Amino acid sequence: MKPSIIVHGGAWDIPDALVDAHISGCRKASEYGYDLLSRGGTALDAVEAAIASMEDDPTFDAGVGSVLNQVGKVEMDAIIMDGSTLRSGAVAAVRNIKNPIHVARRLLDTTQFSMLAGEGAFDFAMKCGFAECNEEDLLVGRELDDYREFLKTGVLRTRRFFSGADTVGACAIDSEGHLACATSTGGTPRKMAGRVGDSPIIGSGAYADDTLGAASSTGWGEKIMAVVLAKTAIDMLAGNDDPRAASERAINILKTRVEGLGGLIIISKSGKVGYFHNTPRMAFAFAEGISGSSKTGISL
Ligand code: ASP
Repeated sequence: MKPSIIVHGGAWDIPDALVDAHISGCRKASEYGYDLLSRGGTALDAVEAAIASMEDDPTFDAGVGSVLNQVGKVEMDAIIMDGSTLRSGAVAAVRNIKNPIHVARRLLDTTQFSMLAGEGAFDFAMKCGFAECNEEDLLVGRELDDYREFLKTGVLRTRRFFSGADTVGACAIDSEGHLACATSTGGTPRKMAGRVGDSPIIGSGAYADDTLGAASSTGWGEKIMAVVLAKTAIDMLAGNDDPRAASERAINILKTRVEGLGGLIIISKSGKVGYFHNTPRMAFAFAEGISGSSKTGISL
């Protein structure tokens, strides 16, 4: 079958000044992933490559560019899930690693375990030969300015506390019809130390099942977990191969049941893409093989 990929670069009130960077970062990630898929690569490889490209891009709140927590530390979460086996690999509150998604993938590929947190995740990364980085290597100027402001005033300068951040996500289907998804984040700005959001939690931050579809979420993590957003959305594809309608219905549940804010991207088992959000903006890019269409933009 013809492969497809869709990525997001976070759902919140993305400021005008950051719009171009979001668009080009999403486009690059989608192109990377699609290129891999069109050369016969697997959906897992495509979502991992797309996420790593956005983790390396300082625009996004994942890898380089991650936000600081209340005590001035970067703690990152990431997950990758294989829709053919329903197995996943995830890291939570991991520090001093540039690409948490690679560590999550290694956990999936080489162990029987699904999630490692904190020091255990870091130690596993070191054992696998990934490089340790300094906290400063992950930090960008806008975040340091925000954090200094937060220390002075106790309030966030550019973001409301629960407005979400530039979390990144990807879903793909490969030429064999296998689905995969991945999500990576530095979490919400000024979260409590040790706080883990929805992103690395199977079913909340991401879910993939070859019999239905794949989804990645972004937004207010505590609310997303309450409605198990990614799995809720995927379940809505049963007997109804309409990812756009499924994402809208799931986001409506997030809104009406828990007053949550967020966004979703989905690929169905037939390779159709869909997305929806109830935040002011969401950055996305996709290449849909079945229709031959592709698009990058900021959804309003
Ligand atoms: N969902 C992420 C979290 O709560 C943040 C985001 O997607 O913007 O950690």
